[in-house]
Amino acid sequence: MTIWICKTCGAQHPPSQTPPDHCRICEDERQYVSAQGQQWLDRDMIGAGHANDWREIEAGLSSIGVAPTIAIGQRALLVQTEAGNVLWDCVPMLDEATANRIAALGGLKAICLSHPHFYTGMVEWSEAFGGVPIHLAEADLAHVTRPSPLIKPWSGDRLDVLPGVSVHRLGGHFTGSSVLEWSAGADGKGALLVGDTIHVTPAAGWVSFMRSYPNLIPLPARTIRTIADRVAALRFDRIYGGWPDKVITSDAQAAIARSAERYIAALA
Ligand SMILES: [Zn+2]
Ligand SMILES: [Zn+2]
Repeated sequence: MTIWICKTCGAQHPPSQTPPDHCRICEDERQYVSAQGQQWLDRDMIGAGHANDWREIEAGLSSIGVAPTIAIGQRALLVQTEAGNVLWDCVPMLDEATANRIAALGGLKAICLSHPHFYTGMVEWSEAFGGVPIHLAEADLAHVTRPSPLIKPWSGDRLDVLPGVSVHRLGGHFTGSSVLEWSAGADGKGALLVGDTIHVTPAAGWVSFMRSYPNLIPLPARTIRTIADRVAALRFDRIYGGWPDKVITSDAQAAIARSAERYIAALA
């Protein structure tokens, strides 16, 4: 039996002898099936030629990716708190060195996801740390490609995970698209971990929001307004996106507010 990973998006599928017929994440209009058709990677083959890429990015926060990059180059973020560690988002594989390093830090209390493009190897990661709960928005449950009883869907707009760590549903990219508010981040000013619920753009101090990034499908003004209003209620100074270069180190609250106004004005 093989765990098949979608080559385009990185989603793991249930163990089977032959690859699945399709990937529901890639067939959704927010992703795509490549011109060569649906392609699969074998989890064990990936494990032999790839490793996790661990980078400490500030006290209590590490970025964990996969090198060489596969799928969309996602990264996970490990948030360390006195009450335990939370993995925000996920990557398609976990190697032994990383599993041991996290275990030495006390393991995981929970895995929380921004949206389906980062579900990837969440079941493998949960199982490796004793079956910790996988918190993902109930609204996006239909996009799960590897079902598991470890998945604990949540509803509403806020999930308190640990003291100083809460997840907020903003919507937009996906109905359940969420961000993680980490109160101790950025030297106590607060950090927001955003996946691509909020997308940091190349010009310093600006972000954007899309229903689909690869297919360039925008969002309506009312949705941008909802996202801006929900973000305004959170306390943070810095944001970390789903890729290593997607960071605004300070004054990120203002960056999101001005970017939302620019977006709404462009649609008018
Ligand atoms: Zn896929
Ligand atoms: Zn996405």
